[in-house]
This record gives sequence, C-alpha cells and structure tokens, in this order.
Amino acid sequence: MVHPPNRPTRRVLRSPACVLLSLAAVLLPAVSAVADDPLEDVTFVGNDGTDQTWPARVLVQAADGGLLIEDRLGRIEAVTPQRLRERTRRDEAFSYLDADELGQALQDELGVGFEVYQTPHYVICTNAGEAYARWTGSLLERLLRAFLLHWERFGLELTMPDHPLPVIVLSNAEDFAQFATRDAGPAVAATKGYYSLATNRIVLYDLTVGAGGRAPRSADDVARQVATSGFSVATVVHEATHQIAFNSGMHTRYADNPMWLTEGMAMYFETPDLKSRTGWRTAGQVNRARLGRFREYLAAGRPPDSLIRLVSSEERFRDPQSAPFAYAESWALTHYLIRRHRKEFVAYLQHLAAKPRLNWNTPQKRLAEFREAFGDDLELLDRGLLQHVARMPRTGR
Ligand SMILES: [Zn+2]
Repeated sequence: MVHPPNRPTRRVLRSPACVLLSLAAVLLPAVSAVADDPLEDVTFVGNDGTDQTWPARVLVQAADGGLLIEDRLGRIEAVTPQRLRERTRRDEAFSYLDADELGQALQDELGVGFEVYQTPHYVICTNAGEAYARWTGSLLERLLRAFLLHWERFGLELTMPDHPLPVIVLSNAEDFAQFATRDAGPAVAATKGYYSLATNRIVLYDLTVGAGGRAPRSADDVARQVATSGFSVATVVHEATHQIAFNSGMHTRYADNPMWLTEGMAMYFETPDLKSRTGWRTAGQVNRARLGRFREYLAAGRPPDSLIRLVSSEERFRDPQSAPFAYAESWALTHYLIRRHRKEFVAYLQHLAAKPRLNWNTPQKRLAEFREAFGDDLELLDRGLLQHVARMPRTGR
C-alpha cells in the first residue's frame, strides 16, 4: 500500500508484497467536517508548480484553512493553505464518475495503446490485452464478493462500493516501473503492484509475461499459466484487498489506521482461490509464507515486547531488516484475533472506521485503544497468540 507520494516522506518501508510511504501530517487537526457534499471547483498549486483546478468535495477543512479534498475520480489531495488559490461552490452535489467516465479519464491519462475493460464493480485500464484484463476482473469480482460475505458472516456489515473501483494493469515490469515511479515514487518501482491511498487505484502488471508462457489468448489461458507458473497471485490479492477494505467502509482513507491491522487484513486474504470460478473458499487459510517467516522470527528470539511495539507504531515496518517479521507477526496477530477474539476484533474495526481523517494518533494512544479493545493483560494475549500459531500445521495447510 502506498501513502501519498506528494508530500514529505518520513518513513519508507519495503517488503515483497507491500510498500508504504507514510504521510506526514501536513494539516492541522480538523475543526469541522462537511455534512453535505457540494461539488466545488478547488484551485491549488500542483506538485509541478502550476495551478490546477479539481472539481471535488471537501472532506476536511483544517483550522489553518488547509483542505483535504476528493475529486470525482476518487483521488484525495491535501491542500495546504499556502497552495490553496480559490474555491468556487457549484450548484450541484458531489458524485463520483460513472464507469464510462472513469474509463475515459484513465484512458486519457494513460494514452495510446490502453483499453478499458469493465466489470460490475471495476474499471480496468490496461495495455496487457483483453485476456489478462478479463482474468484480473474475474479475480477481483470474486474477491470483492468473498470479502463482503466473509465479514457479514462474522457480524460486520460492510457496503458494496457505490462507485467503480479503478485498476491499472501494465503489460510488463518495465512499463510498470516507469509508471509507478511517476505515479507513486521510485520506492514502488521494483514491486509487483501497489494500492495508492492518494489515487484509490491498484496498479499491477501482467505477471505471466516472462514466466515462460506464450501470450495468453483467453482468460482461461491466463488461469492455466497462473496455475503452472511461479506467478504470485498473492500480490494481486493483497493490493486488491487493501482497495476493497478502504472502499467498503472497513477502513477510512487518511484516518489513523494501524499498519499491523491494514497489512494483517490484506495478508489474511492473501491465500487465493484459483479453483473456483464463482466463489472464494480460501479466506483466512493459514498463510504458509507468512507463518514460515513468523516461525523464523520466533527461532531468532522474538523479544518480549514484540506485540506492544507492533501495535503501538510503524517503527518495525520501517527497517528493511525487521519489516518481513513485522508483516509476518501482523498476519499471525490478525489471524489469531479473528479466530479467537472475533467480537472484540469486529468492535475494534468499527471503532477505527469511525475515526476522523487527518487525526494521527500517538503510539501511546494506539496502544491504549488496543488495550481497550482486547484487554489490559497483553502478556496473556501474547501467550494466546503463540499458542494459536503453535497449533498451526508445520507444513501444508
Ligand atoms: Zn500491503
């Protein structure tokens, strides 16, 4: 997951599946939330130094006059008072672009050679060909439905996104690296995909290219290549889960979301169901890659304050040495809480989803809220976590 690239980057972290550039708080805490959502033309100085005007709604108006705005493509921008030029309210309500309009906007941005492929809930702009787009679209639709159903069964009502979700699929790693560098910064260029909190898009590339396969002719062809190659569907699923979680009411963009939780959620769904054409039976399966990494961490001498540090701050995710273990532990913790403390976990998710945007918590506050949700005795919780993991199979599922 990528936080906005267009402001000072304090923290950079990398892992095989995910990159995060964290947002420095550029606005003062909000003093007012906009109850209705009129459409406004907001003119501000863009990153390239020229003025730009976004038809947008104001999500947060900060005490210092800065704004957090969202445009009709779902892009969010923090506009500081120094960058803000003008606001003009239009005589209409804010709405997102419909699928055709969104497709056109993406095609205009990406240029010649890109086509748009629509599914009921996604608009995929791609130069990777129709077969790969169809395969991706089918996977995303299945994941979206499975995600909502999964949480409904667990007592958390989420909502089907009421606007199409944007997806960009580049044809190969080189195109991806070039686009990603421009779109989200050089840190993501070497990854296999990302979700951008700023643009609300997932950006992927055709991972079957270079996997020894010929150009696929149909979505079934892609499915066969995926099944027989080293293709990492987990990356696609991971980034797509971030996008779904931020567009279904589970998380709020630009609010304080503990990283162990957003990443844990994405990894909880990382186990893809490649067999079903309609369902998705693998959510919450033991994630063998993450489990293996967590066991390595245990063998290397996991410190007693590991859990406290994980839930308090993002510090462990920032260091490339410790990040893989922080991810693995986030997966284990999320899995444990969902399986063994489900009611409390759902209540915690609901509490986080209601948090105001641009209001960043201190490590102390994060820890206090975690204790409130799961009890004061974190040693007991930690023992429960280790027992939960110890009961997982040594190999296989
Ligand atoms: Zn992630």
